[in-house]
Order: sequence, then C-alpha cells, then structure tokens
Amino acid sequence: MMTTELPQVQIYENTACTACGCVCDDIRVTISDNRVIETAHTCEIGKEWFLSQTHTNPAVAAFEGKEVLLETAIARASELLKNAKYPVIYGLSRSTTEGQRAAVHLAEQIRATIDTSAATGHAPSLMALQEVGESTCTLGEVKQRADLIVFWGCDPVTTHPRHLERYCPPRAGRKIITVDVAETPTAKVSDHYFSVSEGNDWQLLTELRALRKQPNWEGASITARHLHKLFHGSRFGIVFFGGGLVKQPFAHRTVEVLLRYTMELNDQRRFYARRLRRMGDVAGADSVLTWQTGFPFGVNFASGSPRYNPGEFTVPEMLARREPDLCLLIGSETIRDFSSAALSHLRNIPTITLDSPGTQSPVPPTIRFHTAVYGIHKQGTAYRMDEVPIPLRKIADSAYPSDYNVLRRILEYLQK
Ligand code: SF4
Repeated sequence: MMTTELPQVQIYENTACTACGCVCDDIRVTISDNRVIETAHTCEIGKEWFLSQTHTNPAVAAFEGKEVLLETAIARASELLKNAKYPVIYGLSRSTTEGQRAAVHLAEQIRATIDTSAATGHAPSLMALQEVGESTCTLGEVKQRADLIVFWGCDPVTTHPRHLERYCPPRAGRKIITVDVAETPTAKVSDHYFSVSEGNDWQLLTELRALRKQPNWEGASITARHLHKLFHGSRFGIVFFGGGLVKQPFAHRTVEVLLRYTMELNDQRRFYARRLRRMGDVAGADSVLTWQTGFPFGVNFASGSPRYNPGEFTVPEMLARREPDLCLLIGSETIRDFSSAALSHLRNIPTITLDSPGTQSPVPPTIRFHTAVYGIHKQGTAYRMDEVPIPLRKIADSAYPSDYNVLRRILEYLQK
C-alpha cells in the first residue's frame, strides 16, 4: 500500500511584517513546504504580502529576460557598474540594515549617487527636521500615554490598517482627530474631523502658532480655534502626518511649521509630530544613510566624498533630467511614484534590479536578481516608522541570496 507523506507544518509566533512602516511584530505565520500557507493577526495588506513572497519561484538571475547563472549575472552587473559614468542606486526601503550598508559601500566604491524611496515620500519632512529638529517618542509611548492623537494629511485606516488597533486603541479620555482635505476612512472613525482646504495646511498651522502666543487673537479661523482648544487641553499629544502634508508645493516649509509648533507645545505638556512611513524599512534606509554618510537621502559620491543636495542628487529628478547612464534598483516597486519622464529615461538606460520573488518591476530590467525576503528567508533588522529597530527572523528556507549577498559579491568582483 502506498503512503503519502504530508508536508510538515510549522507555526511561528511573533513574526514581523514589513509590508508597511508599522512593522507589526505579533504575526503568527504557518509554513508548510517552505511556503506561507496562513497568517494570523495580519491586515489584508500584510496577508497578501506574506503570501506573495513565497508563492512564486522565478529564476535567481536573468539577463535581458533570459535565465542566467548567478555568477554570470554578478559579472555582467559588475561590468556595467564599473563602466557607467553616472550611475545611481535607488530604493532600499524593502531591504534591511545589512543590505542598506552594503549599498552605501557600493555607491562609495563606484562613485555613484545613492537615494531612497523617501525621495518620493517624506523628503520634505527630512529637510524640515534638518532645519528645526524634532521631538520624538516611540509608538509604545503613544499607545500608553497619548490623550490626543491627530492624523494630519494621512489615512492609516487605508494605508496602515493596524496602526490604530496597535498604537492608538480606544481609552478613557483619549481623543482621536483627523485633519484632512477629505473625510477619509480614518476621519470617519475619529472623534472629530476638521476639513482643511488643499494647500492651506501651512496657513492653519501658522494660525495655531499665533493662537499659542495670543489665545484671544480674533483673526483666527474657527477650525484653528477648535484645534487650539483640543491641543492645549491635552497632556500628551501626537500628530502623525503623511502624504497630504508632504506632497504639496513648499511642503518642507509646512512640515517646518508643524515641527516648530509641536516643539513649542512642550512648554506645558508633552507633544510630538511623527511621520507615518509607507514602506517597511524606509526609516532604516534614512538611518543607515545618515550614519554612513551624514545625510538621509540624495547622496552623491562623484567627488569621492558624500555630497547632499535634494533635487540635484535625488534620483527621480536626475532621471527626469536624463542624467544617469545606469540605475541599480534595490526594491523596484519603489519607482511606481516616478514621473513619466523619469520612467521613460529608465527604460532607455541599463537597469539592474534586486527584487523579492513576488515583485513585478514596473520597468523590464537588463539584469534581474531575485533575492531572499528578510523576515521570511533571512534574518535582519528593519526600523519601524518611529525608528525602533525590529529584528526579522528566518522562518523558511530559500535558495535565493539576500540583497546583501548580491551586493557584497558585486563589490568583491569590483575589488579584484
Ligand atoms: Fe503588515 Fe502594516 Fe498590516 Fe501591520 S499594518 S500587518 S505591518 S501591512
């Protein structure tokens, strides 16, 4: 009689999800035959992310769409990088500290420009905090202590579905308010929703700063007065802000006013402003670039030492100006926000992509590496949106190398 051996099922508790900047680390993952077959405590985005990482099995490397050996792809990628006159390295928010460090090392070696997906996200916030600084707190402190939580220009119910459940659960005396141009799903579950006209955030924040100095100022709008009352009635407040605030003209000035205002509010209470980060480890990419080069994004090594200038050395703008002659993408889904001019140039130059197996690159690359997924196939460290490092565990085997391995091998090839 024939017997069929059933594949072994393993259950891993407290696994981290890096599909968004919340990096929830309480996920239960069921693995069978090295594939994720079930998840618990995930939102829909997280569940889809886990399942998509292990349900395809493409070749480790391909050159112009044809499968090649890893060694061949490493050699060809290294030659392309060596011969490029103005190469750029972009992405990093789907990597980990290990891969990001290797990418910075490679950029320095080949005198490239290195940039992160913050360039199409919170770059204005990073520029603002370089000017005025920021007062920070962890999401754990928010959960335990905040009595006023403000979502300004962001919609976590849609983009970070477990953010409210994990870090802002209902509590006696806690108020949640939303300030946005539209009544978003987050606004609908908030205690108060304040409408702000498109592009008027700077004006509203400036009114709030004025009201803090002169509470009886009669020129303030009704919205500013209501917000002033709520902000000043709190003992621990936090403003989470996102794309609505940073994707408008002169956004760095708007964020600057927000950061100044929240710092000023600390005279009589604790008050913070924190960025709601999109991708799993974009906060890690900022951190690694900063400790390695002194700057968080848009760093150019052409002269041999790091130079920073947003606009001049940010990859989406460089591509739109048709400057780079080669692009290495570490996590190519991060280019979806690029302008059509940038994408069009990307299609005309050699591209090398390092992607997890489930990723569909928006641009067909010259050389494609499929790399193991941190937190599933490899261990590593990712930074949550509040810059708290979260360890990622290996829960399944994989024949794919990590992006760190690929970048190290390219570096070794170039140093021969
Ligand atoms: Fe994953 Fe974000 Fe959903 Fe948490 S909220 S499970 S990190 S996608």
